[in-house]
Amino acid sequence: MKDILKKVCIVGDPGVGKSCLIKRFADDTFSDKYTHTTGTKMSKKEMEFPDIDVRLSMQLWDVVGPKSPSFLEGYIQGAAGVMAVCDVSRDETLSNLDEWLASVRHIAPDVPVVILANKSDMTDEAVVDSQSVAIAARRFKAPYYMTSARTGVNVALSFGAIGRMVLGEAPLAV
Ligand code: GDP
Ligand code: MG
Repeated sequence: MKDILKKVCIVGDPGVGKSCLIKRFADDTFSDKYTHTTGTKMSKKEMEFPDIDVRLSMQLWDVVGPKSPSFLEGYIQGAAGVMAVCDVSRDETLSNLDEWLASVRHIAPDVPVVILANKSDMTDEAVVDSQSVAIAARRFKAPYYMTSARTGVNVALSFGAIGRMVLGEAPLAV
């Protein structure tokens, strides 16, 4: 198996569940490294793709605390993939992905992106349905997944999708 190391960044409004998603996915090999100077946290997770004979070591970068807009430059620099997260219980977190992804693509025009509509377990409070996520995702030319860091639904699938995409492979269909 070929060993490959890639950096993947997670973006989206505060409180959408970015840190919980990374924790849910990466917990079994939790090696958090918090960097005070940049306000970022890095976790590592290995994924194997036997069909393409690759063991991918994903460096998952997370944002900690409030940030100025110029922060994104150094954060996105060197990223092979980006996960953009919104929260189905807050409509504006989906529309704000326009701004997040415009900034990301300004810095890294061709970086692969996946959209995660998180907190899909909150069915009673949901104001964002999968149809509106699908429309946004089509605009961003990105695959999307309805996830829940709480129940774990579609979490491994969506991280697997960005894993395949950073390796230049197509993501698996939902
Ligand atoms: P971040 O600011 O984007 O990193 O968000 P956090 O990961 O800190 O999560 C913010 C809040 O949302 C916390 O109170 C979490 O418990 C909650 N949360 C995160 N993911 C989910 C989810 O999938 N379902 C539900 N119901 N709550 C979640
Ligand atoms: Mg966080």
